[in-house]
Amino acid sequence: MTEVAPGGTRLLALLGDPVAHSLSPRIQNAALRALGLNAVYLALRVAPDDVEGLLLGVARAGGGGNVTLPHKERAAMAVEVPSDAVRRTGACNTFWLEQGRVHGDNTDVEGFRLALLELLGRPLLGARVLLIGAGGAARAALLALLDEGAEEIAILNRNRERAIEVREAIARDARRVRVLGGVADAVATPWDLVVNATRLGMGDRDETPFPLTGAPRPGAVMDLVYRPDETAWVREARTFDIPAADGGAMLVHQGAAAFSRWWGRDAPLGVMREALTDVRGR
Ligand code: NAP
Repeated sequence: MTEVAPGGTRLLALLGDPVAHSLSPRIQNAALRALGLNAVYLALRVAPDDVEGLLLGVARAGGGGNVTLPHKERAAMAVEVPSDAVRRTGACNTFWLEQGRVHGDNTDVEGFRLALLELLGRPLLGARVLLIGAGGAARAALLALLDEGAEEIAILNRNRERAIEVREAIARDARRVRVLGGVADAVATPWDLVVNATRLGMGDRDETPFPLTGAPRPGAVMDLVYRPDETAWVREARTFDIPAADGGAMLVHQGAAAFSRWWGRDAPLGVMREALTDVRGR
């Protein structure tokens, strides 16, 4: 956390490519306005080779920010003080200056954890979880699921090799985690929770990530994908009375966690939620 000099406007930057679709500027600027903080949150489209320089420069000028696709791994290597979540996931989505050094965290882990708790209304302890995907979001989700005490986590990904890499990187010693060969290995199990951490659902014509008919119904489904409306998978789950959430809650919680890293105080969560609801037109 860095105090802003009187009269100085603090720059908080989202570094990614593309960034035009991001809802974070709306959510973060609403929070800054609500607390009367002299800062602005801007989305910057950044080429890979510019990530390190911009990240370090913005932070050393007293600012901070977020990092999104495809730069989270580069950011993890650029920060001077990576958090435990950054070290374990190899990805950084939040940076700031603290005591002269550039710190990095991966607040997707905390965002996922809090959104999950909201969805389930109780701790995950002892649950059997199917995690679909093996990208950056799946890494954050896996770390949170392990820390939250899931009894069994099965990873399913189109590219199985990538799922094995994720298991090796994050859960090498965890007997609780295994990699499935294909959807057929997953449909017979009555999962307590199914998590979609793939991009499926972002496009209007995407197939759903996991069948909710012809298989035992899961106890809950959590989609990390968010779009202006709800995802087709979440809507389908609701028709079967399966508790379901899309990525909106995680987006707000990861943003609130980032805000608290930049300012050393709690984020105005209600304001951030409202900003998301407004931008989604609901
Ligand atoms: P990523 O690193 O690019 O990984 C993409 C994942 O999607 C991989 O597992 C990939 O499988 C899979 N995939 C892509 N197209 C597919 C298809 N046609 N069929 C099956 N699988 C497919 O992306 P990411 O950062 O993990 O993000 C994944 C999703 O999570 C995105 O929608 C992102 O917006 C969302 N997300 C949400 C939040 C939030 O706060 N709610 C935070 C982070 C991410 P392969 O390995 O086989 O290619």
